[in-house]
Amino acid sequence: MTISQVYFTDSRAPVDQPDRWYQPKLSAVSKLERLMLKSGILDNISKGDQVAIKTHFGIHGTTKSLRPVFIRKVAQMVKDKGGMPFVTETTGLGMTRERSFAVSKIATAEENGYTSQTLSAPIIIADGLKGLDGVEVSVNGIQLKRAYVAKHIAEADKVISLAHFKGHMNSGFGGALKSIGVGCVAKTSKYDLHIREPPAIDPGRCTKCGACVEICPVDAIKDWGIDPKKCVRCQGCAEVCKDGAIPLNWVSSRDLSERFVDCAKAVIDCVGKENFRYVNFLLDITPHCDCCPYSDNPIVPDLGILASDDILAIDKASVDMVNQAPILPNSMAQNGEDKFHSVFEWTHSRHQLEAAEKLELGSMEYKVIKVE
Ligand code: SF4
Ligand code: SF4
Repeated sequence: MTISQVYFTDSRAPVDQPDRWYQPKLSAVSKLERLMLKSGILDNISKGDQVAIKTHFGIHGTTKSLRPVFIRKVAQMVKDKGGMPFVTETTGLGMTRERSFAVSKIATAEENGYTSQTLSAPIIIADGLKGLDGVEVSVNGIQLKRAYVAKHIAEADKVISLAHFKGHMNSGFGGALKSIGVGCVAKTSKYDLHIREPPAIDPGRCTKCGACVEICPVDAIKDWGIDPKKCVRCQGCAEVCKDGAIPLNWVSSRDLSERFVDCAKAVIDCVGKENFRYVNFLLDITPHCDCCPYSDNPIVPDLGILASDDILAIDKASVDMVNQAPILPNSMAQNGEDKFHSVFEWTHSRHQLEAAEKLELGSMEYKVIKVE
């Protein structure tokens, strides 16, 4: 049995003397720096490495996504190692929303405070202008047998996931596994992990309005039928069909978790397991993910920051810490074995973790090493 190391710094700044209040070393950014240094988490970076710093910029209305100063600190530390960092995310499913395209995604990032100036590194959307730039890889997953790794992730020498650890309405929680499994794949894989079958037009409902033909990025729709060989599964046609002629069969919570862990395996296999590092920020632990256009009150207090080279161990340790923490009043959480399950009862945190263990992505057993 492997016991993985998970480094941890507490977010508390326990100053109790009025004449000792000025202590910059108690800043969470200073603590992050010490965590990165003492854990040696960046020691795998060599001069000239192209380093993808994967994070989430939130969407219009999100107010508790990861603060840019943390990303900036990591980018500066990567540069100190001689690496060339870029901050990255992928587009969202669909062809009609702000999140669907690189240009509008960057505009949203700027609105939320993420720019090349604040981050000290350029922003590069990893799956291209429309989210269709993926590298097809085979994967012996639990449910999926192939995935489309976002092109600029596949090309990166190293990947550092900076994940805002929080709840998620469909998978229980969002941490490192979701950051890699959903956030590092192109739109076609996002379709495959959310929806069971490729889109098809129901001739009994189609009014031949032409909206789907117009939006399809690859001319896959001819004579009111979809050519499955051409379709890249962007979901655009279903989004614009007002007549319900392209119904989608969305997967269950458990299937979603298993499918994105399959995708995480594909991404990790593609870039190389030794090239990944993970940092989970247990700050502002909201019940919903950062794709929601609001940020509800956190369900537990701020806990701190975790770092590891084991994607499963860091998420398991994060879930355990949240479950051991007291719930906050005026929040959605209830006491129970799984706080995320108490918020969204159709989810369970163990689904992602068990899938990752089955695919041998890491260890459920871990040792926490505290960094002051
Ligand atoms: S958008 Fe819907 S109703 Fe219009 S042509 Fe396409 S399938 Fe038919
Ligand atoms: S047919 Fe396929 S590629 Fe075309 S809009 Fe629909 S999902 Fe996208």
